[in-house]
Amino acid sequence: MQFDRSGAKALMDITARPELVFVRGQGSWLEDHNGKRYLDMIQGWAVNALGHSPKVIVDAMHEQAQKLMNPSPAFYNEPSMELAKRLTGASCFDRVFFANSGGEANEGAIKLARKWGKVNRNGSYKIITFDHGFHGRTIATMSASGKEGWDTMFAPQVEGFPKAILNDIDSVKALIDDKTVAVMLEPVQGEGGVIAATKEFMQQLRALTHENNMLLIVDEVQTGMGRTGEMFAYQHSGIEPDVMTLAKGIGGGIPLAALCATEAASCFAHGEQGGTYGGNPVMAAAGLAVFDTLAAPGFMESVQARSKQLSDGLNALSDKWGMNGERGLGLLRALKMDRPDGAAIVLAARNREPQGMLLNAPRPELLRFMPALNVTEDELALALSELDAIITEVRGR
Ligand SMILES: *Cc1c(COP(=O)(O)O)cnc(C)c1O
Repeated sequence: MQFDRSGAKALMDITARPELVFVRGQGSWLEDHNGKRYLDMIQGWAVNALGHSPKVIVDAMHEQAQKLMNPSPAFYNEPSMELAKRLTGASCFDRVFFANSGGEANEGAIKLARKWGKVNRNGSYKIITFDHGFHGRTIATMSASGKEGWDTMFAPQVEGFPKAILNDIDSVKALIDDKTVAVMLEPVQGEGGVIAATKEFMQQLRALTHENNMLLIVDEVQTGMGRTGEMFAYQHSGIEPDVMTLAKGIGGGIPLAALCATEAASCFAHGEQGGTYGGNPVMAAAGLAVFDTLAAPGFMESVQARSKQLSDGLNALSDKWGMNGERGLGLLRALKMDRPDGAAIVLAARNREPQGMLLNAPRPELLRFMPALNVTEDELALALSELDAIITEVRGR
C-alpha cells in the first residue's frame, strides 16, 4: 500500500512520525500498511492494558453501542454506575467522576483540591508536585508537571504548583506554607523515566499530609489498573490517599479516565464539574470489560510473573552489555543503559526485518517497556532475545 502523503500533510505536525500507517493489531502484535508486523512493547503508550483489539472490549462496546451510546451526562446510565461501583469496591475511594483523558482527570483533581481548600482550609490552593513529574498537557496540568522547559513553553503558567524532589520528604516539608492544600504525585514517575516513589516516602507523605490537614493525590493515570502488579500502585505502600486519577489502562485503548475521591474529599457542588462525554455508556462498557478481566482470579498473578520475567531478562541483558541494571514496578520497567543510544536502538528495532519491534526511549540512555498486561511468556522471551540482537546490531559485537 502507498503511504498517504497528503493525508500526513493534513495532520498537524506535532511530532516526528515515521512514514508508517498502522492498519490493524491483535494482542501484542501490530501490522503496518506494508503488511509488516511489529511486536509492541509500547501498546499505545501503556493504554492497551489487554493488547490490541481484545475481543472482550470489542464485544462490550459493540453490544453497548447498539443499545445506547450517550443519554447525556445529566442522566444516569448503567455501565457508568457499574464501573463506579467496581472502582470504589476495589479501592479506598467512595466516589468517581468519569472523564476522557488523564489530563482532564488531573484537571478535575486540581479543581477538587482547590474547592476542598476553599471549604476546609480558608482558601488554601497550592499543590506540591515533583520535579520530572508528568500530569498532562492542559495548561494547569503542564504547570503541575515538572518537565524541563514546560515552565516557559506556554507562559504564563497556572500559579500554585511548587516542585519538590521525589523521595525527599524534607524537600516537601520545606515547601509547605499556610496556602498549601495538597501533595500530588505519580507513585511511579512514568514519562520522567520510570522512577518509583519508595514505600517509605509514600508513608511519609501520608503522615505529613495528615498532620497538615492536606490532601494526598495520586496520579495513577499510568500506574493504575494493574500496570504495577496491583490493581492500584498506591496499594504497594499500605497507605490510603484522598484522591486518585486513572486513565490510560482503564479504557484498554478507548478514551476513558476517572477521578476517584473519598467521601470527605468529594466536595464539588452541582455545576462545578462536568463534561459532555464523561461516563458515556460505550466507554464505560469498555472500562467494565477491562476491570473484569483484571479482577479475574489469577490475572494479577500472571502480571507479576511476567514482571519478574521481564525484570530478570533485562538484568541479564544489562550484565551482558555492561549496563546499569533495570528499574520499575510490575510491567512498567526501564533498562538503564550505559550510553545514550536509546534512539538508535528504538529505530533499529522498528526497522528490523522481517518483523519489527516497538520500543520507547524516554531518555537517551533509558529504554521503557509497557507491554500489554496479558503479554505471553513467549512474547516477552521473544522481545528480550530480539532486544539482544538489536543491541548487537547497533553496537557491534
Ligand atoms: C499519560 C499521563 C497523563 C496524561 O494523560 P492523557 O490521557 O494523555 O491526557 C497524566 N499523568 C500521567 C502520570 C500520565 O502517564
